[in-house]
Amino acid sequence: MTQTIALQINNPFSDQLRKGYPLISKDAVDARHLPKEEGALLRLTDIHNRFIGTGYYGLQNKGIGWVLTTDANENIDTAFFMKKFKKAIQNREAFFNNPHTTAFRIFNGEGDGVGGLTIDFFDSYYMVSWYSAGIYSFKEEVYEALAETVNYKAIYEKKRFDTKGQYMEQDDFVMGTPGEFPIIVSENNMKYAVNLNDGAMTGIFLDQREVRLAIRERYAEGKNMLNTFSYTGAFSVAAALGGAVKTTSVDVAKRSLAKTIEQFSVNSIDYESQDIKVMDVFNYFKYAQRHNLKFDLVVLDPPSFARTKERTFSTAKDYPKLLMDTIAITEKNGIIVASTNNASFGMKKFKSFIDQAFKQTKTGYKIVEEFSLPKDFRAPREYPEFNYLKVVFIEKLN
Ligand code: SAH
Repeated sequence: MTQTIALQINNPFSDQLRKGYPLISKDAVDARHLPKEEGALLRLTDIHNRFIGTGYYGLQNKGIGWVLTTDANENIDTAFFMKKFKKAIQNREAFFNNPHTTAFRIFNGEGDGVGGLTIDFFDSYYMVSWYSAGIYSFKEEVYEALAETVNYKAIYEKKRFDTKGQYMEQDDFVMGTPGEFPIIVSENNMKYAVNLNDGAMTGIFLDQREVRLAIRERYAEGKNMLNTFSYTGAFSVAAALGGAVKTTSVDVAKRSLAKTIEQFSVNSIDYESQDIKVMDVFNYFKYAQRHNLKFDLVVLDPPSFARTKERTFSTAKDYPKLLMDTIAITEKNGIIVASTNNASFGMKKFKSFIDQAFKQTKTGYKIVEEFSLPKDFRAPREYPEFNYLKVVFIEKLN
């Protein structure tokens, strides 16, 4: 039985939560009154002891838990999760009915009413991601509700919170008939190989779907493309299918070579006609400058934080520098696709990084297109800070 404790919310956070803000900030509560174990239900009240809502205690970088309901009579049980899942699936009917795209998100945390939990669909395989030990403590109810709501071949999970180093040995299979990986999913008729049981990542970041389509349809034809921080080369595949004369994919992780070959191969693209480099992007910039290499289309999609032997990198600090290096190897009238999923800053700040980099290099630019999260990555409309994805297509003018 889940424990419920009363927790007082300080001003001004109580008003915010009452209006529908879903995240409980650590500054909103007196830490001494927090429960011992994550997963406890929190009966949230204001300083006058008036009911605000019921939430749960779960530690993430962003906060200490999430509001689940503002209805004092609503219980947090299997029926609660089922109601949320049904609603989320209803909202995505168009995705389920689209035969050209068989991988998308069916449940996006706070955007669908349960912060800390996301569920992705990969051609009838489901991937549940848990972002705290707190939400994970509801796993029985969540899996019961999910199994009742969807027809699945199998369900897999990722624990995206500190499991004290047990992660590597873990099997991510939960229930159903285990898949034979990789499975091949479609995205706007492009193919992507996906593995749901091979470490932290699946092979494809679904939130970039519209960006991949834009690259294929409007930016790749006849172009020489560079894909930095390329991971499995998903953007390179989109560019090659869109008629790029050549793609170069650069990622420091050794596994990226085989994974990128695989993504090209499942799309019947001869990987030997493409360049795949296992290399630190910062060294690649130096290499490209030394050899006078220039590109018509450059994708820049770094992780928010990265540590290699040589350096640590954080987008919040180092993005302008990264862009300056990129500008130096982009052709006149070339396009830079600048992307970040760092939730700690918004579009305005991101554009100020872009402006700063172009000003410092005395280069003219024009923003030609912008993207944020696609519809299946539903975010609370009133609170743009949960819409973490920022992608800007920039033309270099001189
Ligand atoms: N753009 C990719 C996702 C990038 S994930 C896509 O759309 O699929 C971030 C990748 O950056 C990881 O694969 C990681 O190995 C790589 N990476 C991190 N630091 C790096 C560095 N200094 N140089 C090259 N790659 C790096």
